[in-house]
Amino acid sequence: MDAGHPPCFVRLPLLLLPLLCGAAPAAAAPTGGSDVAATGEFWHITDLHLDPTYHLAEDPTKVCYSSKGVPATHAGLFGDFLCDSPYRLIQSAFSHMAPLTRPEDFIVWTGDSPPHVPADELSTDIVIQVISNMTQTIRQHFPNLTVYPALGNHDYWPQDQMPTSTNDIYRAAAQLWKPWLQPEALLTLSQGDVSSSAALKVFLSRFVFCPVPAGGFYSQLVKPGLRVVSLNTILYYGPDKVTRNMTDPAGQFEWLEQTLEKAAQSLEKVWNLSLKPDLVTYRTLNVAFFLLQVYIIAHVPVGYLPFARNTTAIRESHNERLVAICRDYSHVIAGHFYGHTHRDSIMVLLDKQGGHFNMGTYGDWLTSGASLKWTFEELQFNKSVMSSLCSASSLCRLEYIMTEAFGLADLQPRSLLQLGLSFMLPQTKAFDKYFGHYMVGYNSSIVCEGACKVSQVCAVLHLDRLSYSKCVAKGE
Ligand SMILES: [Zn+2]
Ligand SMILES: [Zn+2]
Repeated sequence: MDAGHPPCFVRLPLLLLPLLCGAAPAAAAPTGGSDVAATGEFWHITDLHLDPTYHLAEDPTKVCYSSKGVPATHAGLFGDFLCDSPYRLIQSAFSHMAPLTRPEDFIVWTGDSPPHVPADELSTDIVIQVISNMTQTIRQHFPNLTVYPALGNHDYWPQDQMPTSTNDIYRAAAQLWKPWLQPEALLTLSQGDVSSSAALKVFLSRFVFCPVPAGGFYSQLVKPGLRVVSLNTILYYGPDKVTRNMTDPAGQFEWLEQTLEKAAQSLEKVWNLSLKPDLVTYRTLNVAFFLLQVYIIAHVPVGYLPFARNTTAIRESHNERLVAICRDYSHVIAGHFYGHTHRDSIMVLLDKQGGHFNMGTYGDWLTSGASLKWTFEELQFNKSVMSSLCSASSLCRLEYIMTEAFGLADLQPRSLLQLGLSFMLPQTKAFDKYFGHYMVGYNSSIVCEGACKVSQVCAVLHLDRLSYSKCVAKGE
């Protein structure tokens, strides 16, 4: 599961070999720095919500199942706002993105492939088919890129009901994502948790027949110095009845703490492994040390929903635990990337002292064809983000570059914190612009003032119960 576990062997993805050979001399001394592959770009794709039933029909109530009978009066070849994505729209967006992509880029894909339709319109098989279709489509358009997926609440049937044991959908995902993920990363999907602390559980499952918890989360090294930790936050999602009374579903919190603890030791050893027939030998041909930073990806975000009051996206108790873990390890977490809300938004997690920032968080949506391209330098996403929106026309266009839109020097947490604080000022134009992008340009006549603005601003700056409620009380 975790390629960096000391007792486990590390299989280096081919992608890393040229980087290691070129940049790290044999038996390199610990550098403690991040001079290797410290800059790069990646796409964040989320909430594709393919609706295979979309078609241009005479009767606007029959255009797509996902409009649930509401007339789709602006239906075009590339969709209607009331419908989920036609396949053509997804292809159009990917075709636009592909030429802007370099071989060394990667993709973060935070789930939700099936459409918003009643449960009886779908089945386990259909959900697997849709995830398979989206996986193949991404692979066709980005054949050389590694994709780091996370499961969404719609990536299960019935939706939201993700279990803590393996099942047909987890196993199908493990098969489909083999080209991108290392065997260790696929284990919590296909077999269950085999982290070092759970080795006993595996032993027991084999010999005493206890079920092994499976949760569909993993960690994988992207390149020296950068690790992706993909969480299954559906296990913390309120509508998931299976996990309702569990304090740590599938042991994911415990695993996350262990994974971040290892990262917090700052140095990651990358072992060059030599395999011989019938014999595994460990040879330290190249041992390189890099300062490690982590990107956390997941579908349902941490924190409070900006469009509601006092409502966390995941269960409140699980949110408190997740925020606490992220605070404890904020020095190694360089960024969080979530989906689910179908909105562009940011969050900044303040540390326990309240005066310092730890990280920025960004969510986005693709239901109307939006995707984000991040640029990171020195392992901080500090340059720009652009969102290309492929709406009901066939044309994709650059929607905005965040640094330019808000006059920011970079997207470091410090800058995002200043931006969030500026939203509180009475006459600020920055908040109106932020809210327009939050709505993904859907309707510029919707104005967010008063209580609406308090909810938005408190959700940007306060992710835990105590500080959020203080913020709301102050704003009222
Ligand atoms: Zn969604
Ligand atoms: Zn969702």
